Amino acid sequence: MVRLTDAWQEVLQRRANNTQTGAYPQPVSDLLGQMSAAAVLMQANIKFNGALVLQVFGDGPVKLSVVEVQPDFGFRATATVQGEVSPQLSLSQMVNQNNEGRCAITLDPLERLPGQQPYQGVVPLFDDHKEKIENFSEVLEHYMLQSEQLDTTLVLAANSQVAAGLLIQRLPMEGEGNLAGRYDSVERESALGRDEDYKRISILSKSLKPEELLGLDVNTILHRLFWEEPLLRFEPRLGESVPRFHCSCSRERVGRMIKGLGVEEAESILSERESIEVGCEFCGKQYHFDPVDAASLFTQTDISPPAGPAVH
Ligand SMILES: [Zn+2]
Repeated sequence: MVRLTDAWQEVLQRRANNTQTGAYPQPVSDLLGQMSAAAVLMQANIKFNGALVLQVFGDGPVKLSVVEVQPDFGFRATATVQGEVSPQLSLSQMVNQNNEGRCAITLDPLERLPGQQPYQGVVPLFDDHKEKIENFSEVLEHYMLQSEQLDTTLVLAANSQVAAGLLIQRLPMEGEGNLAGRYDSVERESALGRDEDYKRISILSKSLKPEELLGLDVNTILHRLFWEEPLLRFEPRLGESVPRFHCSCSRERVGRMIKGLGVEEAESILSERESIEVGCEFCGKQYHFDPVDAASLFTQTDISPPAGPAVH
């Protein structure tokens, strides 16, 4: 389970403080909160030293929503909204109007070997019958089953104060380690009709209402749902390793991006204004590159091509 409070409120506050965008419309904020909770749960569940990036590419007014969680649970989130998002918009009205929306999960290793690409899995926002999915949790359940062959149950909810999630996964453990402790594989467990154990826990989890997930503490929720099950609760994560807002943007990175535009494009921007302004969409930080800063980007000696000297 995850319960994001201060960190989630900071994501929303930074957006509200951004004078160019203003606060998120409520349905967008709810989606981004659910994505944040899900991304933290998934990062906690994999043994992987790198960033987990959860993205929804939408074909409606919400073009992109993205959450990035580092291995130490520093995370950032943002959404790009074009046009009106009224308070009643459903998931498909926001991001999947023509069934062309996609959800992508990317694992980007911290130390990438030369030529190594990040791993990425993509799923549509419709089910096996091409019906539009209206609960974001079902998109990820679908993904887990398709790409990881893992039975997954996710309950997600968010409001302006809390983003929370409950993840149940049937792990492919063997022998004594599996759910019932009696079968030697998930296949055998299913064949014997004993996956009822997982199904029961899944159904109990799905009975959790959003207001309960958002309003109750973890012990109360676990007790209400699983009071008949033997439970082992691990120590909650505390201190340094607790999920928190963290943006990895830097002047150096923005500089590399401007350099990527090329000298001509940079000069063209500077012919119209005093400096190149770049705002970080995640944290709202503004970066200014005046003509001297910009010129120095292109004159820096760099081993990587194209490192042509600036002409002017
Ligand atoms: Zn930033």
